[in-house]
Amino acid sequence: MNDDHSRELYDRALSVLPGGVNSAVRAAIEPYPFFVRKGDGGHIIDADGNRYVDWVMGLGPLLLGHDLPESVRAGIQQKASEGPMYGAPAEVEVDLAEFVVRHVPSVEKIRFVNSGTEATTSAVRLARGYTGRNKIVVMQGGYHGAQESTLVEGDHENPKPSSAGIPSSFAEHTLPVPFNDEDAVREVFEEHGDDIAAVLTEPILGNHGIVHPEDGYHEFLREITDDHGALLIFDEVITGFRVGGLGCAQSEFGITPDLTTFGKIVGGGFPVGAIGGRAEIVEQFAPSGPVFQAGTFSGHPVTMAAGLETLQFAAENDVYDHVNELGDRLRSGLEDVVADQAPSYTVAGTDSMFKVIFTREGTGVPANAADVKNAETDRWRRIFWGQMRDRDVFLSQNQFECQFVSYAHTDEDVEATLEAYKEAL
Ligand code: PLP
Repeated sequence: MNDDHSRELYDRALSVLPGGVNSAVRAAIEPYPFFVRKGDGGHIIDADGNRYVDWVMGLGPLLLGHDLPESVRAGIQQKASEGPMYGAPAEVEVDLAEFVVRHVPSVEKIRFVNSGTEATTSAVRLARGYTGRNKIVVMQGGYHGAQESTLVEGDHENPKPSSAGIPSSFAEHTLPVPFNDEDAVREVFEEHGDDIAAVLTEPILGNHGIVHPEDGYHEFLREITDDHGALLIFDEVITGFRVGGLGCAQSEFGITPDLTTFGKIVGGGFPVGAIGGRAEIVEQFAPSGPVFQAGTFSGHPVTMAAGLETLQFAAENDVYDHVNELGDRLRSGLEDVVADQAPSYTVAGTDSMFKVIFTREGTGVPANAADVKNAETDRWRRIFWGQMRDRDVFLSQNQFECQFVSYAHTDEDVEATLEAYKEAL
């Protein structure tokens, strides 16, 4: 495969961008990332003209794929042609807020920001401001963006910053517990119950190989947070408007969180984040309440138009049927492909999320971060990713990030991908 132009671009990038990229995960591709020239339906084409079936889909935002339907594209272009932004409210912000409130029952009010990271940062501040408490419980292996309160590793007895540049005193307020471990959650509430502002979790861990909640786990979290006057925050940056369709994963699980963070799909491919939830809590944001939150680009009109047009298109067409059906076919096809390799491989995912995980000791479907840590990360990186790329399939760049089906993907893409997996394995 010719990738001379990508190599040249990477050399140029290395001299002006740290690590040659603007987001750490993009450099995970070895020996260097390919540079993308453009998207095309369910595919992308790199700087050297190589075409790949794209299951990364911008890391999740592109529910409709790279070719936006005419109505969506027209709505975005119209907004952009009216001046990019105003520093004053615009009707389209209210339109998108009303759409979310109408479809996600736990959301009575919502504030839009510019990224998932900003959403979770503001949600944590809001939970602390509302409860007057300091600590948050998070799941080991969960990811909530590049923010100080959640870049924490270790366990609740010994939380440590997982990045340089974060004072250890910040990490003291974050209590990591294993996902799906009710006893660990009970223990932290016994020890710190009076000072826990919130439990923050993805409904399905999507940055750790796709880890599903065990039956009753979310109900348990709902109950224990209620009992202790703490908030339950669902981080639906990945699952929002993907799992469970327009009602999001919370509707699938039948759980009503106090707050939900959104990102990715709700901006239709443009930078976005949002914090929604019970009105009395969200009203604590300035200017109606004492929790400061503001942003020059927040509720950006072009983003709001892209999000609204995307979600309206999904509401009026067979988007979720299509992506979920292809997701089912991919997962069951992959089960067949890995069957004779069992127990070294596990197929995980639901709806339009999927992932093949390499498990060193055949732990089966991972229940938590420790199980996923058994995965053969090196093998994934060194051998597997390259094998799939050589077969014109673009998968997420590391073993732990999930992959996404879009409305633009076709049966042929599924077949070609299953064939490539078969050969690569
Ligand atoms: N929360 C979850 C669950 C995510 O998966 C991500 C990013 O992938 C974030 C938060 C951070 O979002 P962003 O990258 O838009 O800051």
